[in-house]
Amino acid sequence: MYINGQWIETGATFESLNPADGSVVGTVQDGGAEQARQAVTAAQEAFAGWAGSTAYQRSALLERVYQLMLERRQPLAELLTREQGKPLKAARGEVAAAADAVRWCAEEAKRVYGETIPSARSNHRFIVNRHPVGVAAAITPWNFPISMVTRKLAPALAAGCTAVLKPAEATPLCARALFEIFDEAGFPPGVVNLVTARDPGPVGEVFCTDRRVRKLSFTGSTAVGKHLASACAPQLKRLSLELGGHAPFIVFEDADPVQAAKGLGLLKFANSGQTCISPNRIFVHRAVMQPFMEALSQRMAKLRVGNGLEDGINLGPLINRAAVEKVQAQVEDALGKGAELKQGGEVLDEGNLGRGHFYAPTLLAGIDPDMRIYREETFGPVAPILAFDDEEQVLAMANDTDYGLAAYCYTRDLGRAMRMFEGLEFGMVGINDIDPTAAAAPFGGVKESGLGREGGREGIQEYLETRVGGFAIG
Ligand code: ADP
Repeated sequence: MYINGQWIETGATFESLNPADGSVVGTVQDGGAEQARQAVTAAQEAFAGWAGSTAYQRSALLERVYQLMLERRQPLAELLTREQGKPLKAARGEVAAAADAVRWCAEEAKRVYGETIPSARSNHRFIVNRHPVGVAAAITPWNFPISMVTRKLAPALAAGCTAVLKPAEATPLCARALFEIFDEAGFPPGVVNLVTARDPGPVGEVFCTDRRVRKLSFTGSTAVGKHLASACAPQLKRLSLELGGHAPFIVFEDADPVQAAKGLGLLKFANSGQTCISPNRIFVHRAVMQPFMEALSQRMAKLRVGNGLEDGINLGPLINRAAVEKVQAQVEDALGKGAELKQGGEVLDEGNLGRGHFYAPTLLAGIDPDMRIYREETFGPVAPILAFDDEEQVLAMANDTDYGLAAYCYTRDLGRAMRMFEGLEFGMVGINDIDPTAAAAPFGGVKESGLGREGGREGIQEYLETRVGGFAIG
């Protein structure tokens, strides 16, 4: 753990395991409420100095973090693959994206502008300033254990907030490796703090109830997000929540079905399906169903499952046994209710795979709304396909979810593209595009997918308060 510029030990530790083979990747300190409070104290004491530093000073330190992350891209990526499982190429991509978020915030720190507002009174002026919220707490998930951390800490630090992070218990080593970089970059003590814990409850409780914490940013499941939101409610603590998703992926009859299948194949199996923007309901117009399915099956047949450190692997393990069981239960439920298994549909446990948590890339056709997979997030390598006949029907079905994070649509009709962009009730919409995300673009959802945005200008606003000054000038 890293508190007030020091690496500290509690005596208790826990292990981080490799999901590809069950081996121990490393050991970290096991913290609780006491360490969380210590970290908040350090962050609170450092706040005035950090908030009072210039944006140029904060920017320079973040720039240094960016440089160090790039220098360590390969070892960070290898650690990420060992601890989380994604193939090495994807891990290198995550480290680059995570570093890019830091650089973007280093640049944007200098552009946190205020404004003046014309007053109706001639002897009066209005000035609007942006102030850092105060101590910001962050809780991050295991699916992107490097980029989720920088996506929260970089804007917080750029805005002038001090921060305390609790990373997911499955991936604490990635967070620790990033904090080695923060330490080396030379942030003043207490500005950025790390509390690792096997049990997230007590640390989360401190973040929600300690009045010195002014802001909580959480990425994870909708259930935990709601729990944290209610725990923060008595103090009306500011919240950013990036929660679950259930993305529709729509292929119209005017789209190129082979191109759409390529996009789906890349998107659905990225991170073994363990992303909140992964397509969970794939709506294909009946007229292009056959060529789409053919192209998709061909791509899926080429996916190689295994340890992400090995050459040529495209699909790594799921994070743990419970994840495999959840995927298997959803597939069985769908098959029991009449879905058609086109490919996969099984736990992979032959030979070396048996030591890890692998699930076969799976293609299901004939999905309908009373199957669990139609409503529940899968977080696994399963592509559930539905046929549709017209635009109005598919838009209604796509929006028929409590989630509202990402949606995708393939069409070559410009009017239809615009109608879908405007009609889909989701925070991010990809039109013939599987990656509507970037450090400069706002990431986040509507409905039960969350509150607030990460990335872009809006990502920094999440850590700022607006203050208006009225000046009577005589
Ligand atoms: P997942 O189901 O994807 O693991 P979670 O929402 O359980 O998603 O985990 C996301 C993050 O939330 C992790 O850092 C985890 O430790 C944390 N978390 C889980 N439960 C709690 C809780 N009760 N209080 C605070 N943090 C929690």
